[in-house]
Amino acid sequence: MKTQVAIVGAGPAGLLLSHLLHLEGVASVVLESRSREEIEATIRAGVLEQGTVDLLEQSGVGERMKREGFVHEGIYLRFAGRSHRIALTELTGRAITVYAQHEVIKDLVAARLAAGGTLLFGVKDAALYDLDSTAPKTRFHWNGKVHEIESDFVAGCDGFHGISRPSIPSRHRHEFTRSYPFGWFGILVEAPPSTDELIYAHHERGFALVSTRSPQIQRLYFQCDPQDEVKNWPDARIWEELHTRLATGEGWTLGEGRIFQKGIIAMRSFVVEPMRYGRLFLAGDAAHIVPPTGAKGLNLAVNDVRVLAEAFGSFYKTKNQALLESYSSTALKRVWRAEHFSWWMTSMLHRFHDDTPFQHRIQLAELDYIVSSRAKAITLAENYVG
Ligand SMILES: Cc1cc2nc3c(=O)[nH]c(=O)nc-3n(C[C@H](O)[C@H](O)[C@H](O)COP(=O)(O)OP(=O)(O)OC[C@H]3O[C@@H](n4cnc5c(N)ncnc54)[C@H](O)[C@@H]3O)c2cc1C
Repeated sequence: MKTQVAIVGAGPAGLLLSHLLHLEGVASVVLESRSREEIEATIRAGVLEQGTVDLLEQSGVGERMKREGFVHEGIYLRFAGRSHRIALTELTGRAITVYAQHEVIKDLVAARLAAGGTLLFGVKDAALYDLDSTAPKTRFHWNGKVHEIESDFVAGCDGFHGISRPSIPSRHRHEFTRSYPFGWFGILVEAPPSTDELIYAHHERGFALVSTRSPQIQRLYFQCDPQDEVKNWPDARIWEELHTRLATGEGWTLGEGRIFQKGIIAMRSFVVEPMRYGRLFLAGDAAHIVPPTGAKGLNLAVNDVRVLAEAFGSFYKTKNQALLESYSSTALKRVWRAEHFSWWMTSMLHRFHDDTPFQHRIQLAELDYIVSSRAKAITLAENYVG
């Protein structure tokens, strides 16, 4: 097979890149190790920044999101038993939209297939060759045979555990990592929303988050030991923990429902620099990870491919490589802003195992400052909406 851009991974980064390239008149082939059913059923992110929403709409894949997504103009910070609203829209003129990542995936897959795009699902053992040449190759097993794609470029959009980033020789990779000494216990619940806007709660037993995915499905998280196991958390214990951490004297109660999914996710900050090696360009989680506290991962993936699609488009129109040359530094500016914001929110809202009473008071002082200073609230709001 031959194509202009071979894309490894059909997550939000790979699918949106393929869609944007199509709009630029650039051909691509997307290789995905999982099945279409699996990628369309994996529930992950759900908070879309205004810029993400605008791009999906402008590129013609935002119609269902516009109809079914929920625009939120604020979030609540809850600490010391009280809630404080951060009025995102009043402070910034922008808003977030809650629309589940797997719904974005469904919309993108449908758009690519309707446009005759090539998406290969169930690809195994993908491997990249000749990345420092002008004809990189991607070899893989598919439908019981070995295939090879020769392309002008390869886009590594295969997430944190993919093969693209490790294909860069280690001497050309500068990696920056921070692991956090806690994880998030996440549940999906069949229940109507308990709140009109997301609640980020700081509690002495640890962080909790009340989020939503749809009018019928709610997403709740609470900070846990990353080594803990799901089997240690029967439903009753989960509800007790959530009720304790979210308790407030304001008459609000958390609605319960059937828990149909439980899982523990690790919390990590990670960046690789540069996001390019030869003809391989990394985008999304393949190049960077943020703890989910800032709701940035999906939005960063979208921003990367917005920049990358424009760079490929410019290359094919003018043969000028300037935007490809600057891709990594342009994308990394936004990446490091989001890395800082996500680290800051995480540090402020979670309990650390070595916290002293002094550090706990410092966290509360910072939260108090955010809800009493318009300047500080704007800092949070403009980072949150993107
Ligand atoms: C529980 C959870 C909650 C989150 N909440 C938020 C949120 O609220 N807001 C937010 O912005 N972000 C959030 N995120 C982060 C967000 O989901 C990711 O940042 C986003 O999925 C990144 O998209 P991506 O396309 O770069 O990578 P991925 O979505 O990981 O997609 C990579 C794709 O590549 C495929 N792949 C991997 N290896 C190979 C291979 N060798 N060959 C072929 N295909 C391969 C994978 O199967 C996958 O489909 C959350 C993440 C988690 C886990």
